[in-house]
Amino acid sequence: MSDSSDAGDPGTDTLRTPIVAVLGHVDHGKTSLLDKVRGSAVIEGEAGAITQHIGATAVPLDVISDIAGSLVDPTDFDLPGLLFIDTPGHHSFTTLRSRGGALADIAILVVDVNDGFQPQTIEALDILKRTQTPFVVAANKVDTLPGWNPVEDAPIQQSMETQSDRVQQQLNQELYEIVGELSDHGFSADMYWQVRNFQQNVGVVPVSAMTGEGVPDLLTVMMGLAQRYMKEEMQVDVGGPGVGTVLEVKEEKGFGTTVDIVLYDGTIRADDVIVVGGENNPIVTEVRALLQPRPLAEIRTESRFEQVDEVMAAAGIKVAAPDLDEAMSGAPIRVVRDRPVEEVEREVRSELAEIAVE
Ligand code: GDP
Repeated sequence: MSDSSDAGDPGTDTLRTPIVAVLGHVDHGKTSLLDKVRGSAVIEGEAGAITQHIGATAVPLDVISDIAGSLVDPTDFDLPGLLFIDTPGHHSFTTLRSRGGALADIAILVVDVNDGFQPQTIEALDILKRTQTPFVVAANKVDTLPGWNPVEDAPIQQSMETQSDRVQQQLNQELYEIVGELSDHGFSADMYWQVRNFQQNVGVVPVSAMTGEGVPDLLTVMMGLAQRYMKEEMQVDVGGPGVGTVLEVKEEKGFGTTVDIVLYDGTIRADDVIVVGGENNPIVTEVRALLQPRPLAEIRTESRFEQVDEVMAAAGIKVAAPDLDEAMSGAPIRVVRDRPVEEVEREVRSELAEIAVE
C-alpha cells in the first residue's frame, strides 16, 4: 500500500477484484452456476450493493460474506470481492488475454458429478495448465444423485450430513473418481476441506447450481485462493492509465460501434484518449461515453445505459468512441493519458502480435 494520504493520487496502489472465469464440458452447468451465483448475490445484496457491469458480474466481499455465513470471516480478506466473466467456456477464456496471460486470474472448472470427465473437461485442464491459472473444481449437480435430499443454499458439508448413508457413499464414490481423473492429468486434488495448500492441491467443491448447495463453499474457496496466492498480482495503480481487454464489439443505437471491455488495471475516464487493437492498425480515438447498465427499476423509455465519468479496475464497461468499427474482441485497450501516443500504440501493437502467434 502507498502511504500517500491523497486517495486519488496517481501512483496509489489498491487491491483490485480478481477476475474469475468458468470452464467445463458442455451441459455440465457453467451457465446455471453463474446464474445461481448472480441470483444469490442479488438476494443477499442490499439495494445497490451489486454493481451492474457490462459482460461481467461483480460480487462484493460483504455479499460473499452474507452468502457464505459462518464459512467466511470478512476480516480475513482485504480483496474487494470477485468479478465473474459472464461468458463461460474455453473460447472466451483463450481469446480474452491480458499482457500475454489469461484475462481471468482464477477459474472454476465445472464437472458434472455423474458424467465425470469429458473431452472438453480435459481440454479445459490443458488450458488451465498452460496458462498456469489457479482453479477449483465445482463437482456440480449433486442434487441429481438418486435419493438426494436438497437443503437449499446450504454449505455442502451441512447438506451432506443430512443425506442417507447410501447417498453419501454414492457421492463420495463419484467425487473420488473426479479426484482420480485429476490425478491422471497431473493434478494432485482432494475435497476442498482436506486441502491445506491450494497452490499444490486442487480443491474439489461439491455443488448444485440448481439448489445452491455448496455455492457458499465455492465462493469462500475462490476468495481464499485469490487472497492467499494472488494478492501481489492484485496490486494495481488505480490512478494510472487504464488497461483492459475487449470482450465484444457491438453496434449500439445512438452510440454507433462500441466496445465492451474488462478493465484490469488503472482507470478509464470519459474524456480519455485510448488505443484499441484493430484488424489492421491500432485505433487511436477519444472516449465519447462510458456506459453501464441502468438499474432495472429505472428502465422505461430511456436508454438501457447510464453514463459514468470514470471506472476503476477491475470492471466491465461499455466504451463508446468514434472509429471502433475495426476493433476486435480479445484485443487490448489502453488509455494514453500523459504518455506519447506512439508509445501506447507500440504497446498495443506488440500485444496484438503476441495474440496472433497463439
Ligand atoms: P453449460 O453448457 O455448461 O453452460 O450448462 P447449463 O448451465 O446450460 O446446464 C445444462 C443443463 O443442466 C440445463 O438443463 C441445466 O438446467 C442443468 N443443470 C445445470 N446445473 C444443474 C444442477 O446443479 N442440478 C440439476 N439438476 N440440473 C442442472
